[in-house]
Formats: sequence, C-alpha cells, structure tokens
Amino acid sequence: MKVLVVNCGSSSLKYQLVDMTNENVMAKGQFEKIGAEDAIFTHKRPEGEKLERVAPVLNHKEALKILLDILVDAEYGVIKSMEEIDAVGHRVVHGAEKFADSVLIDDDVMKALHDCIKFAPLHNPANIEGIEACKAIMPNIPQVAVFDTAFHQTMPETAFLYGLPYAAYTELGIRRYGFHGTSHKYVTERCAELMGKNVEDINIITCHLGNGSSVSAIKGGKSIDTSMGFTPLSGLIMGTRCGDIDPAIISYIMDAWNLTLRDVNDLMNKESGVLGISGVSNDFRVIEDAAKEGNERAQLALDMFHRKVRSRVGAYATTMGRVDAVVFTAGIGENGIDNRAEVCNGLEAIGAKLDLEANKVRGEEKEISTPDSKVKIFVIPTNEEIVIARDTMRLAQQ
Ligand code: ADP
Repeated sequence: MKVLVVNCGSSSLKYQLVDMTNENVMAKGQFEKIGAEDAIFTHKRPEGEKLERVAPVLNHKEALKILLDILVDAEYGVIKSMEEIDAVGHRVVHGAEKFADSVLIDDDVMKALHDCIKFAPLHNPANIEGIEACKAIMPNIPQVAVFDTAFHQTMPETAFLYGLPYAAYTELGIRRYGFHGTSHKYVTERCAELMGKNVEDINIITCHLGNGSSVSAIKGGKSIDTSMGFTPLSGLIMGTRCGDIDPAIISYIMDAWNLTLRDVNDLMNKESGVLGISGVSNDFRVIEDAAKEGNERAQLALDMFHRKVRSRVGAYATTMGRVDAVVFTAGIGENGIDNRAEVCNGLEAIGAKLDLEANKVRGEEKEISTPDSKVKIFVIPTNEEIVIARDTMRLAQQ
C-alpha cells in the first residue's frame, strides 16, 4: 500500500509518498509561496537528484496537480501511474471535540471540518483546500484527516477547562485543546519502544520544542495535560509567540499603544516570544550566536525559554506523581545541545540527570541521561508523517 501524506498551510503544501510495506519514504517535497508568481517547488527522492523549480503556482489544487505529475514523471517520478496511490492522509490542525481520532473523510466530516474553522481560522481553511483539491483530482481514493488536537482529547476537565464562566465552554467551546498531538503521540510510542515497556505502563513528559513549542504530560500513553491551549499561542514562549501572559495585558496595551485587537493579535503571534525579547531573531541558532557575542537580551530570551520549559516539566511531574522519561523533539529539542542542557539544569529535582557527554547529539534517537538517573531522558526525532501514513492505512483498509 502507498499513502500520500499532505500537509497544507496557507501558502504551502508539504508531501511525502510512503510505501507502507516497509514505511520507506519514496519521495517528498514541498511548495512554498503558493499564490505567488515565484512559488518554489522542491521534490526529493531518497536517491537521485533534487528537483527545484520557481514558477507561478496559483492555488493548492494546481500544486497538487504538479506534484502528481512529478510522482509519475519518467525522470523524477517514483510510480508508474496515479492508480498506485491507495490513500491520502491529510494533516488537519483543529478537530475540536468532534475528533478524538483520525477519520475517513466523507461529507459529514467535511461539514465538521468547516465547523472547526472558527477555532483555527488561519490553518483549517488551507487544510480543507488541500482535501478538496485531492477529492477533485482523485475522487475515488480514500482520504483521511489526522488532527493535531486529537491526541489531547484524553485530557480531563480539570486540565482542559479555563477559569471562565462554565458557559464559555458549553456555549462557545472555549477550552484547552492542545496541539502538536501527532508529534507527542509519535515520540510517546517510540519512547516506550526504546524503554522496552508498554506505553500503558509508563509516564512521560514530551517536550516538542520548535518554532512553536509545547510540553505534554502523557500518563500511560494518554495525554493528560499540555501547555498549548485554546490556540497554539499559549504556554511556553516560542519563536515569535508570547505564550501565557496575564490576559489583562491585552486591553492595557491596546489603550497604551493605541492598537486594535488585530494589531495585538499580530503582536502576540508574530512579534513576541524570543524574537520580541531578543530583538535579534526567532531562530535559536542566531539568538545563541548573538548571546555568545555578548548580546544580553539574546541571553535573556534563551534564559526565559529554558525556565518556562523547565517549570512546565516540573509541574507535570507533580501532576503525574511519577515520571519515567522526559523526551526532547522538534528543531530545538532534537538539535539544541545547549538548550537541552539548560532545560535539564534543575530537573535533578524530579530525578532526571543529564549526561553532558551523551547529550552531544543532533537529530538522532538517543538516551541522554546518566546511567544512575531515575528518570530517563531521550532525544527522539519526531515523525508526524509516519503517524499520518499509519492512521491513513488503518482507516482506508477498514
Ligand atoms: P517548526 O515548528 O517550524 O516545524 P522546527 O521543529 O523545524 O519548527 O524547529 C525550528 C527551530 O529549531 C528554529 O528555531 C531553529 O533555530 C531550531 N534549530 C534548528 N537547528 C538547531 C540547532 N542546531 N540548535 C538550536 N536550535 C536549532
């Protein structure tokens, strides 16, 4: 069975074609700047030359047509005909309470996806566009939606409710949903495998640290708390997002700086986080370089980030009572040697001791705690695409 994994952003489309007989990636690539005259298309096979083209790509449907043409292309392709694609798996950001698992897409699901747009107005429309484009071009191939929120649907009310009037939840659906679920799920299952345990028997704290970051408490394989909330803006400070702030700041800053709600939204999403504090960049590598050269605000941004992650881990340790492992994943979690060391500096309090030598690793699966550490620490590169491909296969075969 071959599964095409599609991840549509507002102006991007990423894809992987996965051979499910061995879970090998046959080809992968992406479109950037969809809608522009100079959209960038890259396509790679494990062996073989990388293709890169800059040309106008009008919309997601056109991107999809180009991608399907390339997959069957004599020179760059990996399959003989489109018929070889058995199913398509789509990443969908928000499934709200409607979806606690991935789902085979039908008309009712499409309607529910549209209903979820109000919760993720920047993301779900692009996801829906990708699904509609696939349905138009490949009407007879099963399509599956895999949600960023689904894995966190196991959170108890005590974790997902906000201290607002209860009607805000029942009437408006305001609650913590959590995101990065596919990634937290992947590293959870991989962590159990690496420990040689059943996922039901272990408690893990997963730290997905990338441009967007979230920490989750996973008890017996189920998410029981996570740092992102109603939207991906809350929790840790991130590349450009502010994370948790006192909500009263919003009206104060609107008055003081004469900003509209939209301005404040932009400020909190795009101009805050480590970019806003450092004034240098949202890229941790650039901030680290600046800090090493003596830029104090760059150092401050890093210190704030590490402190936030560390305190979340500590909080979740007490929530769960017992922790068996802490896992680092995503861009910073997988590659940021110094970042991991700083986050772990203090985790001895929960019984997690980092082995500084073992920690010198980038982008590889590895146990990085000391042999006598009660709580294991791992680096586990995430693989959201394989979770999407597996779920797609499972549902398409039913
Ligand atoms: P996204 O949320 O966009 O998927 P990623 O998971 O790719 O993000 O993470 C991007 C972040 O990872 C960037 O801030 C980048 O600086 C950081 N990163 C990548 N490599 C390193 C590294 N070697 N050291 C520290 N941070 C790194």
